[in-house]
Order: sequence, then C-alpha cells, then structure tokens
Amino acid sequence: MAEIVKAKLPFEKSEMSKSEAKKFFKSAKYKLEIIDELEGDVVTIYKHGDFADLCRGPHIKNTGEIKAFKLLKVAGAYWRGDAKNQMLQRIYGTAFADKKALEDYLKLIEEAEKRDHRVIGTQLDLFSTMEEYGAGLVLWHPKGARIRDAIETFWKEQHYKNGYDILYTPHIGRSTLWDTSGHLSFYKDSMYSSMDIDGQDYYIKPMNCPFHIQIYQKTVHSYRDLPLRWAELGTVYRYEKSGVLMGLLRVRGFTQDDAHIICTPDQVSSEIKEVLRFSLSMWKAFGFTDVKAYLATRPEKAVGEEAQWDRAISALKDAVEQEKLAYELDEGGGAFYGPKIDLKVKDALGREWQMTTIQFDFNLPERFDMNFIGSDGKKQRPYMVHRALLGSLERFFGVLIEHYGGAFPLWLAPVQAKILIISDAQAEYAKKLMSKLRESGLRAELDDRSEKLGLKIREAQLQKVPYMLIIGAKEVEASSVAVRSRNKGDLGAMEIEKFIEMAREEIRSRKSEV
Ligand code: ZN
Repeated sequence: MAEIVKAKLPFEKSEMSKSEAKKFFKSAKYKLEIIDELEGDVVTIYKHGDFADLCRGPHIKNTGEIKAFKLLKVAGAYWRGDAKNQMLQRIYGTAFADKKALEDYLKLIEEAEKRDHRVIGTQLDLFSTMEEYGAGLVLWHPKGARIRDAIETFWKEQHYKNGYDILYTPHIGRSTLWDTSGHLSFYKDSMYSSMDIDGQDYYIKPMNCPFHIQIYQKTVHSYRDLPLRWAELGTVYRYEKSGVLMGLLRVRGFTQDDAHIICTPDQVSSEIKEVLRFSLSMWKAFGFTDVKAYLATRPEKAVGEEAQWDRAISALKDAVEQEKLAYELDEGGGAFYGPKIDLKVKDALGREWQMTTIQFDFNLPERFDMNFIGSDGKKQRPYMVHRALLGSLERFFGVLIEHYGGAFPLWLAPVQAKILIISDAQAEYAKKLMSKLRESGLRAELDDRSEKLGLKIREAQLQKVPYMLIIGAKEVEASSVAVRSRNKGDLGAMEIEKFIEMAREEIRSRKSEV
C-alpha cells in the first residue's frame, strides 16, 4: 500500500464491451460471473499501475491523494454471502485524505464494536438467534421481551392517537392470494416453501398487505369512510442468504410495524404529510432527532398512470418540504409500483440507518380491484400507501441497543429499579418494597443474595440498571431507600413514594440521555 501511494499512480478509466471485458479478465471466474450479470453492454474498468478491476467509479485522480490508510482485518467470506459457495479471503481496508479523519474513523469503529448489539444482547441477556435450529430466527429473552413490550405498548397508543386502527392477520395464505397479489410471480424467491392443506397450496406470508386488502374487500366503501389507516405488528418471513444474516439487523423472520393507508386521490397529500409527521415524532420519542429523507421517483418500467405518479411524487415532496427535512432525490429509483420516501436516522455514533419506508402502490389496488364509491356515486380506485415507521422490531431493536449502548432510558429499561439489601435483616422490608414498585407499574427486581454490597452494585452497573435502591438498617427504620442513579450518581435517601413519583415522571417524559 505504502509503495502504491508513494508512486502516485493515476487511476485510468476505460470502457469495454462485455465480450472484450471477458477476454480481459479471462482467468478470473468470479469477475466473469459479475460481468454476465451487469446491465447493458458496456462495462467500466479502472486501472492503476498493473492492477485493473471492474468498477463503476468514481475514483480519486491518483494514489498519491491517499494520505492515511489502514488495513483493518482479514476474514473468510463466502462468495456472494452464500454458505453453499466457496470461502474466499476478504481483506478489509480503508483510506482517508488525512490522518485525523482516519483516527476519527478508527475511534468510531472501536466504539461501534463495544456497542455491537450482539455483544450487548448477550451481556444483558436480551435476545439470541437460533443458529443451528434456524438461522436468522430470533429468540426474545425475558428482558428483551420487556423492552419489546414497552415499544409495542407505546406504538399502539400512538397509532390510536393518530387515527389508526390495529389489525391482526394470519401467518399463511393460500397460493391464490399470492397469485392475485403478484407475489408468486415477482417475489417467490423470497418466500418460504409452500405447504399442503387439504390439497391446496399455502405460503408463509412475506408481507401483510394482501390480508389488509381482504379486510377492505369485505365491505363496500364510500368516500366518506376514507381515509382508512390500518396498522399491524405483522410477523413476516423472507428468504435471506445465510451469509448475509447478521444479528438482529438481517434476519429471516421479523415483525414489521406495518400500516396501509387507503384514501381518495384528494386525501393523498394530507395523508402523506401526516405519516411523515408521525414518523418523525416516533423517532424523536426513541431519542433519534437526526433524520434524512430519500425520495425515489418513477423508474422506466412502471405500472399506473403518469398523472397518478406525478400526484404521488408531489405529495411526497410537499411533505418533506413542509417538515423542512433534508432530502435527496433518487430519480427513477422507485419501485415499479410507486414512488417512495425512505428515512435514514443517525444514531449516537453518527451512523445512518435506513428505517422508515413510505411507499405508494398503484399495483395492488388494481390487482385486487379495490374500489370506493365517490361523491358522484361512481366507483373509483383508492390510493394505497404502505408504510413501516420503525421498519421491523428486530432491526429497530438492534439499532436501539447500539444507539444507547445498552443503557436504555428509563421508559424502555428492562429492569428500571434494582433493590439491593446490605444484609438478610432487610429482606422482609425489601420484598414489600418490590411489591409496591411493581404495583406502581415499575419493572423492579430484588437482589437478596448474601453477597457483598459492592459486588451487587457492580453487577447492577454492568446490567446498566437506571436506578439502584439500596437498603440497610437505617433505611428500614426511616421507611426510605437510598437511591443511586445510573446517570447522576448518589441521590441520597428518599421516601419510596417520592422515588415512585420521580420515576413515573421520568417515564412519562420519555427522557433519553445517550
Ligand atoms: Zn404493504
């Protein structure tokens, strides 16, 4: 690397036809595979010194512009992330225009490793993945499940407040449903194998939409019924290659915080604004305030009329502009069935995560022949928008763990208060205290082992418990607790009622310190 940098080798771009490129890379079988899959007939190649590779570019002008680099690791990686393929050696490295930028990056990597949700997930006993009994399938342990329950409860409250209804739909559906929806023709590779029930073919759902549409189809709708905002914490299963599975971030079974908005063309603009406002308020509640939007427009091949697309895209643009959100336009990057906005949120380390999707759909209303009766008494096609705010609970939980480094704000913490006793003499009092805390809705645990207090405190600290309530003879006598806060240290003795009041207020305000 040092020699290459010193030689200030220029990067030269050239274009070749696919057949020329295949001759050029004749002995590199993986490159030949890639060339075959590239779109169009022209491929670009970058060359410096005697090394050439396929690359879309762009590149810096010459290798001398690299002022700082580091080789990070060497690891085995399956070709295309598929364990059925050959294992290759992958060398990871990074380069920057100056030393400071490299150092900042390395610090970030180190911090990110400490916050790795798989590491913290094990330390705090939050979740595990099934591995040999089902790769990419997540087990939520009691403490992880408490957090999930707090998220779901909040999520449901917020949805009702924002005019949504909540649905529950099945996990499997007959093949004819997926035929009508089109999933079996364009999504089959991601769907899990069929099963036979009474001689009929059933599939596990990769999406919830066709079921929501079934509910819509049960009644005749008038324009007066619209908009309908139907949400579901719907668990779906989609195929992912084994090599790309990653903790909670890439899994094969997950619960989407899904919703479908079915509205009249006139309502599109205000509905999109509402969804976006709602998304941002949810992100804020979970402690994420830095959000960026990515707006994808009509690709060459698309269903639906141009006027529909124009109306949808302008609704999306209006919404991001009204929220004064920074956004990037991805011209032609939309799905064939409609334009969309993706939201990326920045975590405590400044890393961007793609989470929210607000996606128009001109395809399913057509395929299922969805209608409503307009004010003129005539049948009309409604607009349909799919949206997932948090994305999936699994991935969101992974990001949440890394954002907080496992030190969850009080309203999410799996154990909000841990009672520690100095000696067995306080056991009786401590038990009463715990019932009181639990009756007040606090998630409390009692450490009544005959261990030294110092050890119990250290363990509670490692578990990142927000409040420790320490009880000795003095506290029993005064009917109080000595409160120790994760963030603020010793708060001194206080009456239990006062602690409960303080904790409840903190939970209500959903204060979050990262
Ligand atoms: Zn959907």
